[in-house]
Amino acid sequence: MSAQMNTPVVRGACPRLSSPMQTGDGLLARLVPAGPMDIAAFAELCAAARKHGNGIMEISARGSLQVRGLNPTSAPIFASTVEGLDIDICGDVPVIASPLPDDDPSALLGAHAVAADLREAIAASGLILAPKLSVIVDGGGRLHLDALRADIRLCAVSTAEGPKLLVSLAGDAATATALGVVASHDASELVTNLLATIAAHGPAARASDVKVDAFQAVARACLAPTTRVAPRSPAEAIGLHRLKGGACAIGVALEFGQAHADDLMGLARIAAANGATWVASAPGRTLLLGPIDEMTGFVLATAADGLGFVVDARDARRRVVACPGTPSCASGLIAARALAADIAATLPASEAGIAVHVSGCTKGCAHPTAAPLTIVGTEQDYGIVHNGTARTRPERHVEASDLLAEINKMREPVNA
Ligand code: SF4
Repeated sequence: MSAQMNTPVVRGACPRLSSPMQTGDGLLARLVPAGPMDIAAFAELCAAARKHGNGIMEISARGSLQVRGLNPTSAPIFASTVEGLDIDICGDVPVIASPLPDDDPSALLGAHAVAADLREAIAASGLILAPKLSVIVDGGGRLHLDALRADIRLCAVSTAEGPKLLVSLAGDAATATALGVVASHDASELVTNLLATIAAHGPAARASDVKVDAFQAVARACLAPTTRVAPRSPAEAIGLHRLKGGACAIGVALEFGQAHADDLMGLARIAAANGATWVASAPGRTLLLGPIDEMTGFVLATAADGLGFVVDARDARRRVVACPGTPSCASGLIAARALAADIAATLPASEAGIAVHVSGCTKGCAHPTAAPLTIVGTEQDYGIVHNGTARTRPERHVEASDLLAEINKMREPVNA
């Protein structure tokens, strides 16, 4: 059947620490950490989220941290508390670097060092840019950022002269338009010129609004011809990751992207007691902690499991993606995360990827692309969509009482 579009529910722009967004459970503040955070500072951030918000914290699909349940009085206090912590936060233009620190032995170059230079150059440029514009710096390691969309993406590649950065525009790794390859010491100047080209098209412009010729005109001087990069297997942050010098990091996922501040703080404290010094929020709604030794990895995995985190990439909860829905989101029409937990309990463990998307409304925040099965909340019932998005017109509608029976009926196609 044809994929007709329902009207999405439109809400405000990006919520920031200083400009939180109204949701169903109060104000939501989002912060994009500029790399791994000091583990004690992260525990203090969790304590502040519990004190000033409702205690619910989230890590988004892009790895941003979100704190829910703030109010007009507590939000500024929370913001100033976080600003006083030993945590670097990205400015108005998020520059997202590979989640592991620069001692990732699988990386070709240090993404965080490049990203830090970029942030400084962008701040100094004074450019007025669109609120959702973003830049990615991928060091070329195993925990790559290929699935994330960005206006400008730099990805480390091997060349005859050593590692350099492949520059591409507007999209994820598969869809972005490649411009060429730049030496890392020229990256700041190049990216600033590319951003100035976008800014010249207006304060709401994105890279996709600008003709490639305009970018080539400002970039040609420092770019070498583009190099072909083979598609990579999806990155998986859950599990143990080797660092240089024999150390490891462990990755766990938040159940449907959400956890209580007490549980996050508890995990951070156990990790710190076992030698970990940093925590990083990472794409795929995951959290990385390190450095630890391998044995500590098993101790932490057991502790994280006990606290409700996902410690196995095959966990059925990773097969269901859900937005908060009601009551957390003001636009929600169904309790999406509660339903997601019920659905996950019916699915077998598998690495087969996302099987079901539960969306509180037609906006589809948690998973904008197609899923094998999408359940979307409507005013009266649940819309059922196969191989479409939350915006696709549902094939049919079911009542709440029939929903799990409906999902069981679909188990064969869902699990295929
Ligand atoms: S998709 Fe979910 S989070 Fe997004 S607006 Fe709708 S209910 Fe809210």
